Amino acid sequence: MEQISPSSLQDLLLSEDFISKWTKNRILHFDLDCFYAAVETRDNPALKNVPLAIGGPPNSRGVLCTSNYLARSFGVKSAMASSLAIKKCPKLLILPPDFKKYKAASREVFDIFYQYTQKVEGLSLDEAFLDITDLCATSLASNVAREIKKKVFQQTGLTISVGASYNKFLAKVASDWMKPDGFYVIPPSQRQRFMQELDIKYIFGVGQKSRERLNAKKIFKCSDIQRASMADLKNLFGSRYLDMFYMSHGIDFRRVDGEGERKSFTCELTFNDDVKDYLTLMQRLFRVYGEWYGRFQKWQSNEDGVGPNVSTLVVKVKYFDFKQTTHECRFRGDYSFVEFQKLLEYILSKRSEPIRLLGLGVRLGKTEEHTQMTFL
Ligand SMILES: [Mg+2]
Repeated sequence: MEQISPSSLQDLLLSEDFISKWTKNRILHFDLDCFYAAVETRDNPALKNVPLAIGGPPNSRGVLCTSNYLARSFGVKSAMASSLAIKKCPKLLILPPDFKKYKAASREVFDIFYQYTQKVEGLSLDEAFLDITDLCATSLASNVAREIKKKVFQQTGLTISVGASYNKFLAKVASDWMKPDGFYVIPPSQRQRFMQELDIKYIFGVGQKSRERLNAKKIFKCSDIQRASMADLKNLFGSRYLDMFYMSHGIDFRRVDGEGERKSFTCELTFNDDVKDYLTLMQRLFRVYGEWYGRFQKWQSNEDGVGPNVSTLVVKVKYFDFKQTTHECRFRGDYSFVEFQKLLEYILSKRSEPIRLLGLGVRLGKTEEHTQMTFL
């Protein structure tokens, strides 16, 4: 069997068409600076030069929700036990949270977001993604970001950090880059340069433990992941390896908005000429796969909770004479290209005639495994 070599595989995964497609959106990430503490300080300016935290009292088993930057300079952190925080910063003032007040302030800020777009995904009271792609037909993302930031301060008295980029991952990295009161833009043109040096800790899903595990294997920067072979990535990340590969290159398929329920998720490609040659067919299948994978990840990331219930993987073939067939196998947790390759090979073993269309994807729901090899 002819194989696609590892280097050409990476080229296929990062083709120019593919990259330009996944760098077209304009996404903002907003994050209010030490939100609860900021609201308290806004309402009582005397707190401005006091190390301040919001949370439970130190004599109970209380923990901190947030703290201001002065308190942080003493080593005080969110989610720290209040008793430990007091040890680190004896002058720390801990106020009980007033969620009614924070919710009101949050609503004011979100109302400003909704003046610009309906595609607002709130992550918490003080954090949200905005998809402003439509707006950017006429305005620059950086101008929209700056305008919203200014409006939030003028109307609520709160500073907000904002990051602008072409996906969620980098918008969030950008909002954190110059925090507090931050403003940072990562345009598509900076993708390669920016990703080279970026610490892996910024990658969505890489927590403290994964970071230590990866550092032990001499993986510190995104460029270290970029350099790794697909086999190594599979070993390191398991079923998430393609996501990690793409994220290390600054590509993130998650979307900001939701969609309705669906029964399958597939992609198809109709060829200009009918194709019979094995290698050409595999390359075409790979193209459909790349397209499908990207769209599926983007859609999947928007599903709440556990994500879609994938029952089977499916490949569909339409021959030169418009007869078509599909072949499916039960989903076993692996979306990799090889799984679809096997399905196509099975179809070809039954009928090897010129092909005009290839499709692949997944069926969702509780369908039993079945094979439909009728040549309609
Ligand atoms: Mg915040």
